[in-house]
Amino acid sequence: MPPTRGARLPGAVWSALVRFAEAVGSRGSREEVLQAGLRELLAAWKGTGATVYRFEEPRDRLAVLATVGSVPGAEDGFLGADAKRDEIRAAQTGGTIVAQGAQPGASVPLLSGGRVVGVLWMGRRPAAAPFAAGELQALGLIGAQLGMLLETWRLEDENRGQGEQLLALRRLGRQMTSTLDIARLLRMVVEEARQLTAADGALLYLLDARAERLALEAWAGEAPPPDRAVVALGYGIPGWVASQGKALRVADRGSGLQGAGLETRRSHLAVPLLSEGRVVGVLTVSGAREEAFDPSHEELLGIFAAQAAKAIEAARFFERVRRERDLRDRILGGTPNAVVALDAERRVVWRNQAAAKLLVLGDEALGDPIERYLSAPMFLEALRRVLSEQSSLESLEVSLGAGALARQLLVNVFPLPADEERGATLILQDLTERRRLDEKVNRMARLASIGQLAAGIAHEIRNPLTGVGISLDVLREGEHLSDDGLSLLDDIGREIDRLEALIRGLLDFARPQPAQKRPMRVAKALEWHRTFAEQCGKKDVSFQLDLRENPKIEGDPEKLKQLFLNLALNALEATGGGGRVRIAAELVHTEFGWCARVTVEDTGRGMDAETAAQAFNPFFTTKSDGTGLGLAIAHSIAEQHGGRIDVESAPGVGTRFLVDLPSLERGEE
Ligand code: ADP
Ligand code: MG
Repeated sequence: MPPTRGARLPGAVWSALVRFAEAVGSRGSREEVLQAGLRELLAAWKGTGATVYRFEEPRDRLAVLATVGSVPGAEDGFLGADAKRDEIRAAQTGGTIVAQGAQPGASVPLLSGGRVVGVLWMGRRPAAAPFAAGELQALGLIGAQLGMLLETWRLEDENRGQGEQLLALRRLGRQMTSTLDIARLLRMVVEEARQLTAADGALLYLLDARAERLALEAWAGEAPPPDRAVVALGYGIPGWVASQGKALRVADRGSGLQGAGLETRRSHLAVPLLSEGRVVGVLTVSGAREEAFDPSHEELLGIFAAQAAKAIEAARFFERVRRERDLRDRILGGTPNAVVALDAERRVVWRNQAAAKLLVLGDEALGDPIERYLSAPMFLEALRRVLSEQSSLESLEVSLGAGALARQLLVNVFPLPADEERGATLILQDLTERRRLDEKVNRMARLASIGQLAAGIAHEIRNPLTGVGISLDVLREGEHLSDDGLSLLDDIGREIDRLEALIRGLLDFARPQPAQKRPMRVAKALEWHRTFAEQCGKKDVSFQLDLRENPKIEGDPEKLKQLFLNLALNALEATGGGGRVRIAAELVHTEFGWCARVTVEDTGRGMDAETAAQAFNPFFTTKSDGTGLGLAIAHSIAEQHGGRIDVESAPGVGTRFLVDLPSLERGEE
């Protein structure tokens, strides 16, 4: 029954209308405002209860906004389209529906610009008189007023929503670009995408390097089925979006996708993630409702996706750089060569572990000029050439430090490939050990060839010398010799003896008798130490013997006695009064396994590098009465025992000979 236009409203109804208008204009939450208005209506009409509903998109249900008194139905806050109720019909037809009988009441559509935006329902006692025409007209006015109110609120919400969305986008943009942890970033993107579009779920796919497949990298909401982890380009929603580079909105995929995990999701919105016009991935959101997304969602998600794509690219770039850096550190950190990077001002920018050790470049050295650590003029000159682009590579040998700690370095200087500023990379190789090894190998080869020569000569001399000796004896037995002549013959005889001793020594070195090896303790080869100590005493040289460790070896005691005695005599000869000679034995672990190491050291005059290099050569001597065979013989004896001799010496400081012989014992590792 439509309200009759022009009918006069009774005074009570007028005053109810005014009070209603005042109530809905009062302060408070929306629900409070509506409830105040409804209470006025109930008071004026003696109603049992009243409800205001909003007609919700997609216009298939009524949602309760406020209720006063007792209202049947809609206990869960909604009236569905399928509920056979007057309220629904009023919403759908746009006309007021009055019910009589057991549940009398009126369902009044709330109109805004001719559109139904909600429904007011008001119940009356069963005994009440039917609505008068004026009353219905008043309800119509109230409906219009409420309709406007609802519409105002909707617009308010929309505006606020848009403002909030823009703020959220800005905040997200900031957050995303400051997150360089890619996994965290992707999780953040899907979660925000879902919230931004009020979706039930969101998925993020990234395109692989060959742009063939999309891999699912993150999701929000319910976990997607495993068969959707990888999508080929061109297939499904994400595949289509990636291949077209365009957004896609799909409503109601229907029931054809049963089992694909999509049956509960009826709306989908997917946008490409674009970086410089190139698709790098796809962001999809889905909703359970049939038309969960409209063009405004599409626009919003598009803007968001652009920001997300930028942030993802930045994080990926960062990740790549970090991976490259880690790889570089692993490669350079692992090489035994020292690597140092310098800037254009020759300051240390980076160095690996080996460089930190070799040049003593601690963390505090970063930023220091390299010349503080490596100052050889030749090197600085080469570095200057590389930095000034006069040279693209310099390679030179430089020595570092002095004395026993001196190291030989091979330094390669490269320009550092850099866009803006030139720098240099140094690769340093420590040649010291190799030089020592080379020296040892050379020495052995030299001694071997000299030995052969010496043995040949010794034999050649020995035979005629024997002849000379025999002739001398024959001469001595003659009777016609004067006393002078006899003493001359004695002189010749002594010289022949000396020559023979020399030849014996020479042959000892060149063709040594095979060693008669047996298990023995090192001390056995040092039995002469008491006599030696006496000789030291005569020269005012102190002698120390340290046999606390006395390793067991397999050796020829006679030969080893000679070896150590030769070293000890040299030490004593080199040391003046007040000096010291020390002999010690110990068990050490070397690169050749467990060894007995006998150290013979003195505080004597020492040797320069050149003398030390020749000291083992047979016949090399710096002494007027020396034979130059002592060390040569010591060397060949050590070799016969599978051992090695090393020498460290500094002029004016002293000399240390180290003899390592394989031990039958093992120490603690
Ligand atoms: P010789 O003792 O007959 O000279 P060696 O072979 O024993 O021959 O020694 C060779 C040279 O090595 C010596 O002349 C000396 O110059 C040097 N030398 C050996 N041992 C020492 C030492 N302990 N201190 C200084 N120089 C040494
Ligand atoms: Mg000697």
